[in-house]
Amino acid sequence: MRYAIIADIHANLAAFTAVLGDIERRGGVTEMWCLGDVVGYGPDPHQCIELLRQHKHVCIAGNHDWAAISKLSLSEFNPDAATACRWTAEQLSPEDVAYLESLPTVIEKDNFTLVHGSPREPIWEYLLSVSSAKENFTYFKSQFCLVGHSHVPSIFKQIESGGCSFSPFFDYVGLILGKSRLIINPGSIGQPRDGDPRASYAIFDSEPRMIRLYRVVYDIDATQVKMVKHNLPVRLVSRLSQGW
Ligand code: ZN
Repeated sequence: MRYAIIADIHANLAAFTAVLGDIERRGGVTEMWCLGDVVGYGPDPHQCIELLRQHKHVCIAGNHDWAAISKLSLSEFNPDAATACRWTAEQLSPEDVAYLESLPTVIEKDNFTLVHGSPREPIWEYLLSVSSAKENFTYFKSQFCLVGHSHVPSIFKQIESGGCSFSPFFDYVGLILGKSRLIINPGSIGQPRDGDPRASYAIFDSEPRMIRLYRVVYDIDATQVKMVKHNLPVRLVSRLSQGW
């Protein structure tokens, strides 16, 4: 069985469409596992929710998903994110709101725990350091944990001595799943932040047990033109070109 691991679409329809095309070209998947933040920042929140719902998938809630339906206060957001979030809320249909409302914060799938931020704090905590990842290994029972939120493709590995190691998750290098416990981030579809502006996602193949990361070129201009048209903050528009 093959599963797509996708995260942080952030209302970027051009990027999401390109990733779906890439998945099809690679033979398709049984199901998509979405790690939250379907909306926020980008120009197509309603269209991205609709498109996701046309595919067999599971999805957990991210901080932007909750903020868009007022389940989370905007006081913790930076001004640009808050502006985009207020605009996002106005674009959602009642069905979109009900869908975002229904998303759980944690899903267990076979050997995987799916959360948006971290297993300790599913909505808010960023896993960017070895020290925070190390502590988080005690907060989930499965062998593997899949996270989004930081928008940086990463692999944290628990070491037997109780420590933890980090490595970037590069594309085209298959990650063979052995006995180690791992926390894996597939990067972001709609707003990559690792200096590579291409959309990022992964495919888990259960036979052999391997996860492979893919980067996908998409029409960044098309997304930026729409963002400008909707008066979304210029900093959010420009960052897509550089991938930060
Ligand atoms: Zn995000």
